[in-house]
Amino acid sequence: MQPHSIYLHIPFCQHRCSYCDFNTYAGLENLIFAYAQALRHEIKYVAATLDAKLPVHTIFFGGGTPSLLSAEDLASILKTLHTSFDVFPDAEISLEANPGTLSAAYLTELRNLGINRLSLGMQSAHPDELKFLERIHDYMDVVEAVTWARQAGFDNLSLDLIFGLPEQQTQTWVDSLQRALALAPEHFSLYALTLEHGTPLGSWAARGLIPEPDPDRAADMYELAAKMLAQVGYTQYEISNWARKNEKGRMKDEQRMDIEAQSPIAIRQSLFECRHNLQYWRNQPYLGFGAGGHGFVNGMRTVNVLSPKSYIQRLSKLNFSTSSGQALQHSTDDFPRTPATIEANPIDRETEMRETMMMGLRLTREGVSKARFQTRFGLSMREQFAEPIQQLVEWELLCWENDTLRLTPRGRLLGNQVFMQFV
Ligand code: SF4
Repeated sequence: MQPHSIYLHIPFCQHRCSYCDFNTYAGLENLIFAYAQALRHEIKYVAATLDAKLPVHTIFFGGGTPSLLSAEDLASILKTLHTSFDVFPDAEISLEANPGTLSAAYLTELRNLGINRLSLGMQSAHPDELKFLERIHDYMDVVEAVTWARQAGFDNLSLDLIFGLPEQQTQTWVDSLQRALALAPEHFSLYALTLEHGTPLGSWAARGLIPEPDPDRAADMYELAAKMLAQVGYTQYEISNWARKNEKGRMKDEQRMDIEAQSPIAIRQSLFECRHNLQYWRNQPYLGFGAGGHGFVNGMRTVNVLSPKSYIQRLSKLNFSTSSGQALQHSTDDFPRTPATIEANPIDRETEMRETMMMGLRLTREGVSKARFQTRFGLSMREQFAEPIQQLVEWELLCWENDTLRLTPRGRLLGNQVFMQFV
């Protein structure tokens, strides 16, 4: 069976950033303990609907702010995952952390739990920008977090940065990037600021209190960043993601090839790519646990209830107290639904093919290969999507290279227009 991924959503933050529209809540930290218990219940529920343990090669604690969970809560969740699934010994286990919530002791505990990848939300090195975004940390907190993480033994760190703020000067963006590069992370995620409806930034812009971000300036900043990162050895592998070479990973990868041979796409870990996110972009299966968690497994897309309180209530009704401590057996027909599921939509083949194109084309290096598409669907990608492909190649937004379809540099800037053609 092909390896699966697991996403766990932690919907708690100390403060809501001005641009954030994620499913996360400030001031509900008193729920964290019960929430961690509910997560364990949901994991056990899914395991009880399966005849055999699912192979799992990546686990991702995302949020929200997963670093608000105590090491004890994370340990118990990880223990439940290891008991419930066949987690590969070299699984990538990532955790998103807010640099304002960390300590050296906590990071050492995380590393000792087997968490081996840390994603830090740096966003900017400039106090004014961090204030505007309402982040709870400053650049020195990021420096400290990286230092502590290295001391704890993390050798796979990612930094997130945001560009294209209203009236942001190119120089402050370059400066933030340089300060981030000075910390030598293995991975970068760079996102253009978007004004989302319902966020403070969105309403300030709607009321004319701040200017809208300038998309042309943001495009210039993106191109500048791509150039700067390439110059110092980072490879872009996705529209918003860059990674350094991983010599150790290449060796590990060869050993892993046998295990993953059944997967249509063997994972080539020659870069410090985020293996978990690659699973999404390759449209491969993953389970989504937690409030607002999304999953794609068993030919179905699932969505969980958004509210952490409702999530806890739905899972607290379950009784897992058999004498052996094992979850009770549920019907295999339930899989992948759980009491927290509010939507479970079957994905037909046609939709899966479209989604495979839309997500796969985000991968700027890998693209979508004709041969892999043929193996997966038994159909020709060229014939199935003849019209949009021809059109996008004519517009110079896509190009063919060795039977692989990829975004052109221009296509990377206009990704949404490309993906729309496959809806
Ligand atoms: S820390 Fe992240 S998830 Fe939390 S409010 Fe800020 S941007 Fe959103």
